[in-house]
Amino acid sequence: MTQLIHRNLRITPPSAVCAFGMYVRDSDGNTYLDASGGAAVSSLGHSHPDVLAAMQAQLATTAYAHSAFFTTDVAEELATCLAQNAPGDLNNVYLVSGGSEAIETSLKLARQYFVENGEPERRVFIARRQSYHGNTLGALALGGNEWRRKPFAPLLMDVARVSPCYDYRERPASQDVQDYTAGLLVELEHRILDLGPQNVIGFCAEPVVGATLGAVAATPGYFKGVRALCDKYGILFIADEVMCGMGRTGTLYAIEQEGVVPDIVALGKGLAAGYQPVGAVLARDHIVERLRAGSGVFQHGHTYNAHPVAAAAALAVQKVIRRDALLSAVTMRGTALRRMLRDAFGNHPNVGDIRGRGLFVGLELVQERETKRPFDPDLKLHAAVKTAAMACGLMVYPMGGTADGRRGDHILLAPPFIATEADLGQIVARLSDALARALEAIR
Ligand code: PLP
Repeated sequence: MTQLIHRNLRITPPSAVCAFGMYVRDSDGNTYLDASGGAAVSSLGHSHPDVLAAMQAQLATTAYAHSAFFTTDVAEELATCLAQNAPGDLNNVYLVSGGSEAIETSLKLARQYFVENGEPERRVFIARRQSYHGNTLGALALGGNEWRRKPFAPLLMDVARVSPCYDYRERPASQDVQDYTAGLLVELEHRILDLGPQNVIGFCAEPVVGATLGAVAATPGYFKGVRALCDKYGILFIADEVMCGMGRTGTLYAIEQEGVVPDIVALGKGLAAGYQPVGAVLARDHIVERLRAGSGVFQHGHTYNAHPVAAAAALAVQKVIRRDALLSAVTMRGTALRRMLRDAFGNHPNVGDIRGRGLFVGLELVQERETKRPFDPDLKLHAAVKTAAMACGLMVYPMGGTADGRRGDHILLAPPFIATEADLGQIVARLSDALARALEAIR
């Protein structure tokens, strides 16, 4: 018997047959309101006519051209558009097929930069515990999710770890936010000094942490401090914006809200809003100039680099975001969504925190609000939430807590930017129902 391998080898998920606007329909006729854009991907909703038209037009001219032979106007235009709207001199764009590839590319670009800079001893990356940067071996090594890493640990490069910036759960009640932030930066500096700055390539973090923590933004000044430390020790700062980038937080790049320019930015997901598998890496001038003046090649490459139809989809998404002023819509609707969530769950005994930026919103679930005690991860509340939400006709993106209690179950909401206030009201109403059912199911 031949079969398609699904994530869960024991369960075949419903078959999606039609998706339009905010909704996805399955082959049994059930309709789901998409409150998570899949996994923070479908930022324009489904079947957007402008994106479909751009892809069709590209298919009709050049469906594929290998990047070792040709460039295309559409890939060049996309690169220009991404760079012109990026902060600082992030002027150089490399197009790949997804988020993990973007992270792999970032790691290799950073390493090659130092090799060509005459610093080949730099070989260590620093990343945070409670992080996710993708599932290919380099990206998996970078991420701090122990459950994902465990079976593959012997295959992974060593990565140095520091604490995440996770105010709700990790800041001691006795400490103010400023001291907490300063402490995290001291920890990072100590880690750099322990490793020997001359051995460190880069520090990688998500400006707003998505799947691992549930829309957790850094405390004020954290990324300014990170930038200063990277500058002090000549280390590259890599921003993983695969999930939080491309408008999701109300600015095209999430890091814009921190007032710093990373050396490298990785993009995926919302870049082409799910219409094509595509990712990108943006790098500052000095990095690419070093390679250009040195070997003259970036020692990397995939068959589908700068795929023309993927580039056409991503470019169309960028144009729609601008034409329809969707960044300000994201900021406005995000504020409305958090207000509605606070109205519905502000006094809920099992919702400990409601947080996020723009339409990137998280709810952390707790057994007890006062102590922030998480649910026992063996109860798999997150899975119960997903099942109950689907039964209520709602797609959300929940994630489980950890056995060490350093993270609770959470629910990530990342609705399409086209969501109306009425859609958001529906999301909150259905989520209310789903959460009640899920809590009942685990009791
Ligand atoms: N980085 C972050 C922050 C992500 O959230 C993800 C995916 O969820 C990735 C990287 C990997 O992206 P992909 O699944 O497209 O390979």
